[in-house]
Amino acid sequence: MSNTKYIFVTGGVTSSLGKGIIAASLAKLLQAQNFKVTIQKFDPYINVDPGTLNPYEHGECFVTDDGAETDLDLGHYERFLNVTTSQANNVTTGRVYKSVIEKERRGEFLGKTVQIIPHITNEIKERMQLLGKTGEYDIVITEIGGTVGDIESLPYIESVRQLIWNLGKENTLVIHLTLIPYLSAARELKTKPTQHSVKTLMESGISADIIVCRTEHELSNDLKEKLALFCNVKQEAIIQSIDLDTIYDVPLMMLDEGLDKVVLEKLKLPSKKSLDLKSWNVFLEKFKNPKHTLKIGLVGKYVELQDSYKSILESLIHAGASNETEIDVVSIHSEHLEQGDVAKQLDGLHGLIVAPGFGERGIEGKISAIAYARKNKFPFFGICLGMQMAVIEYARNQIGLVNANSTEMDPDCKDAVIDLMESQKSVIKKGGTMRLGAWNCELTNDSKAAHAYQSKIISERHRHRYEFNNKYLDRVFDDQFIIAGTNPETGLVEIVENKNHPWFVGVQFHPEYKSTVSNPHPLFVDFVKTSLAQKSK
Ligand code: GLN
Repeated sequence: MSNTKYIFVTGGVTSSLGKGIIAASLAKLLQAQNFKVTIQKFDPYINVDPGTLNPYEHGECFVTDDGAETDLDLGHYERFLNVTTSQANNVTTGRVYKSVIEKERRGEFLGKTVQIIPHITNEIKERMQLLGKTGEYDIVITEIGGTVGDIESLPYIESVRQLIWNLGKENTLVIHLTLIPYLSAARELKTKPTQHSVKTLMESGISADIIVCRTEHELSNDLKEKLALFCNVKQEAIIQSIDLDTIYDVPLMMLDEGLDKVVLEKLKLPSKKSLDLKSWNVFLEKFKNPKHTLKIGLVGKYVELQDSYKSILESLIHAGASNETEIDVVSIHSEHLEQGDVAKQLDGLHGLIVAPGFGERGIEGKISAIAYARKNKFPFFGICLGMQMAVIEYARNQIGLVNANSTEMDPDCKDAVIDLMESQKSVIKKGGTMRLGAWNCELTNDSKAAHAYQSKIISERHRHRYEFNNKYLDRVFDDQFIIAGTNPETGLVEIVENKNHPWFVGVQFHPEYKSTVSNPHPLFVDFVKTSLAQKSK
């Protein structure tokens, strides 16, 4: 048997308690204890992956190097741990059933009735141990999506129960995250929902080893004692997780609460006294004591949803800290730009990001904002769709191709400067068929990008179907509007820049997926740095 230890994180009482942040924070502490840790997320919904869900349903879709379209919690894992995740780190019910049904069709269960137990649970258990069995990790943390008691999550909970039995109690641990609500009329914190949710878990044969309690107010000792008694855990295993201003403080709060100690003790792993959290603390120090402030506009069509541009917002936090700058992100709805006065709406900002996106809604607003940024020498960063709109803006307003567009917006447009990729033309199915994952890009000497990255070849993650139409290479680019990066294998335009401008960069890829606390993304860092310099002019 391998020596890998397995930690399971379940949730109770309500969704959105931040299981992903707790899992990532614990992993950070265990990493600082010198253990090799990875985190995986098991989602109970039937979609094969979240790639086909819109942001209203599921927030941002995070993309890994190997091209998996995944839950946004994987973004937190990567940002906290500075390690990459992959296809194996996110499993959904859809994926599990698809695989079991394919096995059935191949005749792998010949003669047998295929059932949730054992066939679905075996598949789940196998996938839960996939990363552990590589031998690369000392500890695998598995986050179970949803809330205990949901019909959908039952097979996962049953699989956890079986795995604890298979692997032994000393090799496994269950953390249950719950809410301790505060009733303002009674001025009291209430433990009953937690007691019920721990009981629900017990009905499935699992006793939680640690209860992490989300709360708006401090838990008294009496209350912790009561919780410990009713939930069948030691008092030190009742961990308070009080609301904080920033998610980046959660690892330190968990350290104060002794979460790592309780975990290591239960798993019979050695615990070091002093943890290596130096770079994390340096980041926090800069993040909390900024010397400068900036206002950056973020244009998109889902800006009202907190989670839809998660990775971009976090990248700005990392880049802000590295420039000792507090960034106030001003959300601008692209449809409002279409209707109103652009100059007025962008007034007071020091830089502009035009976000990724799909479909026609709001794109003319994006183009007007880009035109304003280009003409007024306003720092501009266009990401994926944002880059494509920057190309259309230049083609229309500077080159004079007034009908320039993307065939995504107008399939019959006269000048399709952005067009469906050749490889996409035969694609019929929507799920998992975009150009996904890491591809190389060769940077042009003397470009802003080459200066920011300090290297010639870079690798960045993609998620798109359309690209610059190379038939327009000679017509759209000139001595002002240049190609700053291309895919060395396919010749695909990856980065465009405006030369006569302090910082005007559009990228076909998604740099936001690769920014982490210890490695802020070079383009975001350079964008913030230039916006700051422009502000002080
Ligand atoms: N809709 C565009 C495409 O598919 C841009 C995608 C994106 O911004 N991620 O090419």
